[in-house]
Amino acid sequence: MVLTTGSHLPGADGAPFTFSALVTDGRAVRVVFGRGRIAEVGPLARSLGSRVVLLAGRHAPDVAREVDAALGDAVVGRIEETAQHVPVDAAARAVAAAREARADVVVSVGGGSATGLAKVIARDVGLPVLAVPTTYAGSEMTPVWGETDQHGKRTGRDVRVLPRIAVYDPDLTASMPAALTAASGMNALAHALESLYAPDATPLSLSVAEEAIRTLARALPVAVRRPADPAGRAEALRGAWLAGWALGGTTMGLHHTLAHVLGGRYGLPHAAVHSALLPHVAAFTAPAAREAFGRAARALGVSGPDAVAPALYELAADLGAPTSLAGLGPEPEDLDGVAALADVSGVGAPRLVDRDDVVRILRAAYRGGTPERPRGTPPGSSPGKPEQVRATERTVEP
Ligand code: NAD
Repeated sequence: MVLTTGSHLPGADGAPFTFSALVTDGRAVRVVFGRGRIAEVGPLARSLGSRVVLLAGRHAPDVAREVDAALGDAVVGRIEETAQHVPVDAAARAVAAAREARADVVVSVGGGSATGLAKVIARDVGLPVLAVPTTYAGSEMTPVWGETDQHGKRTGRDVRVLPRIAVYDPDLTASMPAALTAASGMNALAHALESLYAPDATPLSLSVAEEAIRTLARALPVAVRRPADPAGRAEALRGAWLAGWALGGTTMGLHHTLAHVLGGRYGLPHAAVHSALLPHVAAFTAPAAREAFGRAARALGVSGPDAVAPALYELAADLGAPTSLAGLGPEPEDLDGVAALADVSGVGAPRLVDRDDVVRILRAAYRGGTPERPRGTPPGSSPGKPEQVRATERTVEP
């Protein structure tokens, strides 16, 4: 298949599809997408192994039972304990359970927290993962794991944690309440936008990210207002898949660095933090990444790069997603501390960023409101010269 524009990407016609999506280091995820395809999890899991540890978030007992029944005797362990940012203690218990059960494959059903726990098992025990996402987090398409202890979040990039198979059944997302749909959708938009200006973006990742933004912007209002509409749910989930795919092969930057510190160190809800931060990081970045933001503008149907940040804010407000960090946890006096923890020195960004910039961004995100129109670049920064700033090897979790 020749992938030149977003319109050639699988599922654009709304039909179910199976597709091998190349992510990174020559590794692909087999993507199985369509209503009712949860029924295929049994045979797909058996294609990876014969002793399954089944990890399912508590919100989906019926789905977990259905998958459990389909796998029958192959299920040698069950884990229900999932939490945001993957607490190390819970991860250690899950790893021990998988080892004890002599499992040879992990099946996870749930949001990014369930997928994240499956990834830690993959990292420590070396098992392949089949992921069934039930939110728009997109973790099933990335080789990034994360874990949190009392000091904050540790993350890493390891191709072994990239799931082998991802089964996307839009019907499983219909139970998401409006608030989760909206925030998780903004999380997916953040993935796509940040991959557009990543230093290692490729023609393919750019097409995929642009199509993700276009799809999410169109579908999320439908998914929020008509949660049971299968077409809206399918389109939103396809957008989230594309956003995760784009991000999986590229390096995360400033936006994810800040979300990571706020989420991991302060224990804030992941998707909500993304939603509140996104317009403000976008306003900061837009002056230095005209081409990337031009693509985003095209996808959002707005006039140009500078209109992207306000449009993202308006979309979040329209969806009822968080538009301010106020009320999520941190107090205004915490923001300097967050900025101090956020190591932005080597962040892969089109524009140099220092601690004062970070404080300004965080304060703007705390205040909420329409992001200010980008005012050009402060002294010392390098707009339009992304080659001066290179991503380092460090990894940030989405
Ligand atoms: P989550 O998985 O914690 O889910 C949020 C809540 O919604 C949970 O209570 C869950 O049980 C519930 N839920 C999930 N699906 C539901 C559904 N269909 N209907 C009703 N309730 C449902 O949150 P998330 O935002 O999906 O994921 C956040 C986590 O994922 C964070 O730890 C984040 O760091 C990680 N993440 C990692 C990556 C990566 O590439 N490594 C990418 C995105 C997110």
